[in-house]
Amino acid sequence: MSKFVSKWNYPTTVRIGAGRIKELPDALVATGIKRPLFVTDPGLAKLPVVASTLKILEDAKVPYGVFSEVKPNPVESNLTAGIAAFKKGKHDGVIAFGGGSALDLGKLIAFQADQTRPVWDFEDIGDWWTRANSDAIAPIVAVPTTAGTGSEVGRAGVITHEESHTKKVIFHPKMLPGIVLADPELSFGMPPFITAGTGMDALAHCLEAYCAPGFHPMADGISVEGIRLVLENLPKAFANGKDLTARANMMAAAAMGATAFQKGLGAIHSLSHPIGALYDTHHGMTNAVFMPYVIAFNRDAIEDKIVRLAAYCGIKGGFDGFAKTLIKLRKELKVPHALPGLIKGLDMDKKRKNLIADMAVVDPTAGGNPIKLTKKAALALLDKAIEGSV
Ligand code: NAD
Repeated sequence: MSKFVSKWNYPTTVRIGAGRIKELPDALVATGIKRPLFVTDPGLAKLPVVASTLKILEDAKVPYGVFSEVKPNPVESNLTAGIAAFKKGKHDGVIAFGGGSALDLGKLIAFQADQTRPVWDFEDIGDWWTRANSDAIAPIVAVPTTAGTGSEVGRAGVITHEESHTKKVIFHPKMLPGIVLADPELSFGMPPFITAGTGMDALAHCLEAYCAPGFHPMADGISVEGIRLVLENLPKAFANGKDLTARANMMAAAAMGATAFQKGLGAIHSLSHPIGALYDTHHGMTNAVFMPYVIAFNRDAIEDKIVRLAAYCGIKGGFDGFAKTLIKLRKELKVPHALPGLIKGLDMDKKRKNLIADMAVVDPTAGGNPIKLTKKAALALLDKAIEGSV
């Protein structure tokens, strides 16, 4: 396995490879954390993967606390409780351990614990992040157990504002974890539905970043290779969760997606965010449902790029060939083709569709779509995703 073990310093220090979790005590020393709060979600907290990681801390005599009140799609009350645990335990840093939900909440606890303004004042709008006291942000070690969101290499945390049912992105450069331990063996236990959903999230990040307008050849290069890795490895990881090569490549692709989407995202995310906030669906799986409809909608603006991408990935047939590959991949991964397959008993009236379209066009990701996402276009895309007509 030595060919899958390496060290990257872009965008942060990523120690990737099987068994890297054993380096957790060393990563804490390197980031200056003496008394970590271990943040994970309640499902993971019951699994052996958490017990064996905590044993590593115990063997190294690291005093730690555990916080696991983290909903999938975390909410403000999770953050408030996490900050209380952080303060009560006199912690000086966070180990964020899990999928995007636990990683985001762990990062947000480290960021927000000693701020004086409410978290919503740091939404990713303009330079709002400069309102934060950066000296008060605690260090973070991130340990992903899914391979999708790439939150481990990101400078933001996503949290749902319950009153308005909107997902808000909270941003600060110092929310970037100091060290990432990306150990693919930690993702072996992911159930197939989560493997598929998170893997498709990585694909959505790479694809939307690649298609977003703007001059960012670095992000484009990272996206293209990330897409190739997903296409080649996600079906293998889905079929056999213990395929180390596939799991390692998917962890790489997830980090690449989040690195690339500094360039921008697009309408897949703009539509998926309101659906996730209103129906509590899995983020990556929701992206996967919207993907082919949005790619078809953007065709006029992205055809040349997709033709180049298809050639790089060894896909014949240019744009149409690539679109067919996406449909085939979704089928293989048992992704619902239309929204009613994702949300049981879905019955959306006109008012609800209007609300979703209104939320989609103001979502911060909408500006990255290569064709302007108007309300009319958002409504049309929503109808297509409900009917299943690409
Ligand atoms: P998740 O963190 O919500 O986890 C989904 C489920 O998988 C949970 O039940 C969890 O217990 C389980 N799980 C995780 N790892 C496992 C493992 N190794 N074995 C068995 N079960 C495991 O899912 P996610 O898709 O990783 O994260 C979604 C969240 O990330 C959403 O809140 C989304 O908004 C956010 N997100 C953040 C960013 C960012 O840039 N910060 C980007 C995309 C998405």
